[in-house]
Amino acid sequence: MSDERPEIKYTKIFIDNEWRDSLSKKTFPTINPSTGEKICDVAEGDKADVDEAVKAAQRAFELGSEWRKMDASQRGRLLSKLADLIERDRDYLAKLESLDSGKPYNDTLNGDLPFAIKCYRYYAGFADKIHGKTIPIDGDYFCYTRHEPVGVVGAIIPWNFPLVLQSWKLAPALCCGNVVVMKPAEQTPLTALYFASLIKEAGFPPGVVNIVPGYGPTAGAAISEHMNVDKVAFTGSTEVGKLIMQAAGKSNLKNVTLELGGKSPIIVFADADLDEAVEVCHWALFFNMGECCTAGSRTFVEESIYDEFVKRSVARARQRNVGDPFNLKVNQGPQIDGEQLTKIMDLIRSGKEEGAKLECGGNRIGDKGFFVEPTVFSNVQDGMRIAKEEIFGPVQQIIKFKTLEEVVQRANETPYGLAAGVVTRDVNTALTISHSLRAGTIWVNCFHATQSQASFGGFKQSGVGRELGEYGLQQYSEVKTVTIKISEKNS
Ligand code: ADP
Repeated sequence: MSDERPEIKYTKIFIDNEWRDSLSKKTFPTINPSTGEKICDVAEGDKADVDEAVKAAQRAFELGSEWRKMDASQRGRLLSKLADLIERDRDYLAKLESLDSGKPYNDTLNGDLPFAIKCYRYYAGFADKIHGKTIPIDGDYFCYTRHEPVGVVGAIIPWNFPLVLQSWKLAPALCCGNVVVMKPAEQTPLTALYFASLIKEAGFPPGVVNIVPGYGPTAGAAISEHMNVDKVAFTGSTEVGKLIMQAAGKSNLKNVTLELGGKSPIIVFADADLDEAVEVCHWALFFNMGECCTAGSRTFVEESIYDEFVKRSVARARQRNVGDPFNLKVNQGPQIDGEQLTKIMDLIRSGKEEGAKLECGGNRIGDKGFFVEPTVFSNVQDGMRIAKEEIFGPVQQIIKFKTLEEVVQRANETPYGLAAGVVTRDVNTALTISHSLRAGTIWVNCFHATQSQASFGGFKQSGVGRELGEYGLQQYSEVKTVTIKISEKNS
């Protein structure tokens, strides 16, 4: 047991490297999902505060400002320093993240924190390696491109991986020389606010990063509708992603990148090592309480191994240790809030009503906090709600298939296209599946193997644009073409 609960140090809005109350003086409670009780109150930013944050960001971005004049290599050094500070405080940040989100402390310390730190380091190294081209246009011209920052970036973050998803947006945005107004999710504002203190300590000039906690329809919408926000980077539901795109269209046509929902298939062929396949599929679904946009939530299993696969998957799910995220033996904490709990329980009910076989779990645990039993359904049919809708909970759907052609078609029959997996020992099967599925990421014999160097994002209604890797930088820079006439006269 890691008994020490973290002290809460920052609860206010962060603008111009200073802490402020919201202009309305309103606050909102952030809740501990393990108990349902309030952790503390946090300043509730809305439109007026977003306006102030955008103005601060614009000042920081003015031509001739410290940030605009800073050498690219120095931007990289600041990002490295930031990574070092996060590393210094990783234990505290991991505890704060676990307290606010319910994620097991073991996972935040050994998963989320290293991922965020590596992401800042990866983009720190890129800051002075972003460059354009010289282009041989016709005639007597010298033509070249510059990759310039987009300007004010609005970052809207969800609650399932707060620190990690902040790093996916802030690191490339700052690497390219942008300024940022970020809104953490209302369920998990605390690590973002502590992180703000590290931005200041690292030496970023005032206004380069501003953090406004608050609700989606108020503070979030104010960012996506803002006439002086040049780009929005959003991770969250497909439903809200559509609202953000509409807001961009109705306001200033800001550049938008979206990382949205998923209903990822993972396909297990009969030639796979069965225990390995069970483990990969278990991890694909149950990692992070099932609160993953990539969760492998449609497990397609070849007919000849189906019954045995179900039996072993149920045994594996029963081994999960659900409880207090600060208990080091626990690998499944609570769901984030009552709303998600209700949604998950409704989908479990629908699975039973529509004729899927509930193999294990299916209930809420206790009446304090938002815990759900690890749940496995077999005999799941493609048309059932549990096979179509994003559950975002610890609920595995095991579906039978007969042939490769058939399963490709069924796996692709979804409006989503974020990720997919295949488990097989046959390289031809692996490649055929990888090239046939319409998804932004394919994992072969593994799942959730996402790293900073490789791009990530969705096909279809799972998103627009790519985050991470070199591709991720394209979303944070504008390409400018400069064409110079070469005069024949020598001056
Ligand atoms: P989830 O359904 O997983 O909670 P959401 O898409 O609702 O995910 O939330 C993700 C982020 O988007 C959060 O920071 C939330 O406050 C924000 N958000 C919600 N509604 C809006 C909106 N209308 N405009 C902008 N941001 C929003």
